[in-house]
Amino acid sequence: MVIASNLGFPVVGSQRELKKLVESFWSGKINEQSLRDGYSKIQQAHWVLQQEKGLQHIPSGEFTLYDRVLDTAQQFGAIPKRYQDIANPLDQFFAMGRGLQRAATESSAKIDEPILILDLEASVKLALEKAYKTIQAQLAGALKVLVAAYFGRVESNIYAVKDFVDAIHLDLVRAPEELDTVLPLLNKDQVLSVGVVDGRNIWINNLQNSIALVQKAVATLGQDRVIVAPSCSLAHSPFSTSFEVKIKEKNPELYSWLSFSVEKCAEIVTIAKAVNGQDVKAELESNAAAIETRRTSPQTVNPTVRDRVAKIPTEAWKRPSPFATRREAQVKKLKLPLFPTTTIGSFPQTKDIRVARQQYKKGTLSQADYDTFIKAQMKNMVEVQEKLDLDVLVHGEPERNDMVEHFGHLLHGYDFTENGWVVSYGSRCVKPPVIFGDVSRRGPMTIDETVYAQSLTKRPMKGMLTGPVTMMKWSFVRDDIPANDLCAQVGLALRDEVVDLESAGIPCIQVDEPAIREGLPIRRADWDAYLEWSVGCFRLSTSGVRDETQIHTHMCYSDFNEIFDAIAALDADVITIENSKSDEKLLKIFETKQYTNEIGPGLYDIHSPRVPSVEEMKQRFGDMLKYIPAHLLWANPDCGLKSRQWPETEAALVNMVEVAKYFRAQH
Ligand code: GLN
Ligand code: ZN
Repeated sequence: MVIASNLGFPVVGSQRELKKLVESFWSGKINEQSLRDGYSKIQQAHWVLQQEKGLQHIPSGEFTLYDRVLDTAQQFGAIPKRYQDIANPLDQFFAMGRGLQRAATESSAKIDEPILILDLEASVKLALEKAYKTIQAQLAGALKVLVAAYFGRVESNIYAVKDFVDAIHLDLVRAPEELDTVLPLLNKDQVLSVGVVDGRNIWINNLQNSIALVQKAVATLGQDRVIVAPSCSLAHSPFSTSFEVKIKEKNPELYSWLSFSVEKCAEIVTIAKAVNGQDVKAELESNAAAIETRRTSPQTVNPTVRDRVAKIPTEAWKRPSPFATRREAQVKKLKLPLFPTTTIGSFPQTKDIRVARQQYKKGTLSQADYDTFIKAQMKNMVEVQEKLDLDVLVHGEPERNDMVEHFGHLLHGYDFTENGWVVSYGSRCVKPPVIFGDVSRRGPMTIDETVYAQSLTKRPMKGMLTGPVTMMKWSFVRDDIPANDLCAQVGLALRDEVVDLESAGIPCIQVDEPAIREGLPIRRADWDAYLEWSVGCFRLSTSGVRDETQIHTHMCYSDFNEIFDAIAALDADVITIENSKSDEKLLKIFETKQYTNEIGPGLYDIHSPRVPSVEEMKQRFGDMLKYIPAHLLWANPDCGLKSRQWPETEAALVNMVEVAKYFRAQH
């Protein structure tokens, strides 16, 4: 019989129970025993649930109070010196995870080895071989060992482990072609676990296709040597669609396309049953019907959008003139001083703002009153910036709760879950928007607020948008069209907005792309293709404007050296980057590569309330001038200021402006 198996489940719980439990322990509301009892209860409930769904293999070692890698490190005694003398293991565990404070240990015959999909050096392959030989020798016959690789292709790395394990798990969602390459490599007793249900998305599985893949494995290996599984742990998908009452009510079609962890377990069982010849006709019929509506529904397919993407003219992918020409036009138009000062977009999201937004959402604050409130906020923010004597102003983003969700509400093709939480790290959870259909603007997205802010000042106002790659990376994306096509759709929607901002008289427009580095594929061989379309879509969104319109982009901390050429290829007129935590190496590459466009490396860290002194910022600015030509250098903070309070924000910006003025006088 083919077995229905699982690799991991959303440990955080259907209502984020684990998060709440762990955080009440941290804050001292419950003791260690209550934490352990609560933890066992959640774990048991998940086991029972998976069993009820019909799974035959249920994962056990995957439960963690903070991070699984941390559990494993502690289990193996890989404990940094500074934590070694903490006697209570649980305290030691949390101390390692979050800097001082406790462990779930379990030995398991499921060994996760996602490293197998990386480009591995020979020494690492040798180490793997040695480790698995030892495991085999120690366990011989006592415990079956399954090694699970996922998130990509194992390629030749499989040779490092394949002779020493009883079973191998492959991610056939990411690498379906590996079924053919791995099948002939297995010896006559080895079992293959086929990951056919995507553990990282929120969409229903194409059961017919999965069944065909599993049948192919069964044809070679026989039923007893095949396990059906998700592609990876289901911890990357939310808990269950059953909590999405609103979507179910308002958009039953979309609801029928969704499958979270609990539903994915049922899919695995159905696939196994089908291959075992059991009757799953009803399940297959309803699945096929949902797949068909998803393929053809006007909610997913917008012919106008498809046509526009198919016919993007070549010249739309880059600015009409080279940077030197654009710079001349921008210098003339903007008349900025040397070392222009600006901020990255957001100003403090105060309690007042959060309360007003909640009231507006609940309906206790009318649209008109909310608009008046937001306008008053912007007015105040513009006044503060004028008083600070900043050169390029922003509207301050008081109307935005989040840089992706805010735009998701303004675009066709996006929807939002009520309970689609996934763990980001530790106890932190995120609820990404869902992109289910072709994307286009519902209408102008930022024109009203930006034009209003511009009307309050003679200084140039910088429009503020979230870039196409970040709009995708920080959402659950559809899996029924290629990522590059989806990105181009978002790129075109943003392009329309950029052009509208220009027509409305906005001279500078910033398109944030903090997530571009995050999207890099795992294998180096795939980098170029990704960078080509992601960078291309950024340019698509920003090149519909005249030379004199200054395009900014912003990136949070990342390893710029690795992808420097791609960053340069964005061809933004001004790029602001997080820099205060990096050493001078980051800036050196701009010099080495003779980067020609303007740059604002962050002058101070915005992640803490500390106000850096003038002297400190002078020092930093002086260091920057060693690498970046004066006429290209801007003065700005590291990132947006939304998580800060006003007093420290103003104090730090006063100092920053003073530093820019000091260096202006020197030049
Ligand atoms: N414009 C955004 C802000 O200032 C940029 C945030 C980000 O880079 N993550 O908040
Ligand atoms: Zn940032």
